[in-house]
Amino acid sequence: MQVVLDLDGLDALIGALRQDGRVVVGPVLRDDAITLAELGSAADLPSGWGVETGPGHYRVRRRQDTAVFGHSAGPQSWKRFLHPPRRALISSDRNGFHAAEVDSPAYAFLGVRPCDLAAIAKLRQIVGGRAPFVVAAQCTEPGEVCFCTSMGCGPAAGPRYDIALTERIDSAGHRFLATSGTEEGAELLARVPARAASPDDVALAEQDVGAAANRTGRAMPELDLRDLLARNRDSSHWEAVAERCLTCGNCTMVCPTCFCVSVEDTTDLDGNAERSQRWASCFEIDFSYLHGGAVRTSGASRYRQWMTHKLGTWHDQFGTSGCVGCGRCIAWCPAGIDITEEAAALAAGEQP
Ligand code: SF4
Ligand code: SF4
Repeated sequence: MQVVLDLDGLDALIGALRQDGRVVVGPVLRDDAITLAELGSAADLPSGWGVETGPGHYRVRRRQDTAVFGHSAGPQSWKRFLHPPRRALISSDRNGFHAAEVDSPAYAFLGVRPCDLAAIAKLRQIVGGRAPFVVAAQCTEPGEVCFCTSMGCGPAAGPRYDIALTERIDSAGHRFLATSGTEEGAELLARVPARAASPDDVALAEQDVGAAANRTGRAMPELDLRDLLARNRDSSHWEAVAERCLTCGNCTMVCPTCFCVSVEDTTDLDGNAERSQRWASCFEIDFSYLHGGAVRTSGASRYRQWMTHKLGTWHDQFGTSGCVGCGRCIAWCPAGIDITEEAAALAAGEQP
């Protein structure tokens, strides 16, 4: 089913999802960034805001129009809702042990970019949980650090959405081509004010998304990355990266697919204790602590571990790459380290 919504129609879509008892989460402007938060209505979307990104660089900027999805990936990803940064596992008090309640609302994610659509599928393969209702926003304006095209994850939405929106603003007005991907998506679209999509609406949307494919700011080298990483375990290039890498772990925190956790126990003076799980990073020195010490003590070994897992051994573990090309790790690395450039440097180091 394909229909065209205007902004009021989008507002009605959000209202219908809320009526169905869903917590609707989408992009909002907060703290000088496009972050993710619960939406009350379409008025909460970042109308007229875009972003400017680069290695170690992210700024919001005013747009010349009122687009609500005219921005690329922000510092947060949907990971924080599917795999919370901190989660209680079990607690104890003088009366015994208590398993923590798993409180997972019925989410509707609205404005999910195609790279993140792929990331949600990859992450849920690992962490499971209740499937969210997904309203994707196809990408018509990729960012400077995006490389989804070369990872096969954008800018068109893959087949895992309930509804996909393609936003367009021109002399005919501000509108969204809405395509249902599931029966539930089609039923929802039938409940909101919309007009039938014309062949022109569909052709313009395809043209906009097709043009975006050639405008991503970066690309991964076109070679078998799994094999490249496997061949370069002992490359001297890791030392060159380590001279810049601060081992801060920002790249792993912002990555929509990095899922590692640590488990920690806390107690208070009243005899209460809690065991919780929190996001962890392979860049932490004690992440690889085994009896007697850490296995990966150098920055070089930790960066190598991250990149080799992300682009290489994910294939062996999960049958897919761990990277969707969202570019967050490039924008939010304080040293501006660029995973596409590091892959290219490894490949160049193999040239005779
Ligand atoms: S490794 Fe970087 S570009 Fe790839 S999914 Fe993670 S944050 Fe995005
Ligand atoms: S690559 Fe960048 S973000 Fe990642 S740990 Fe190193 S300095 Fe931090």
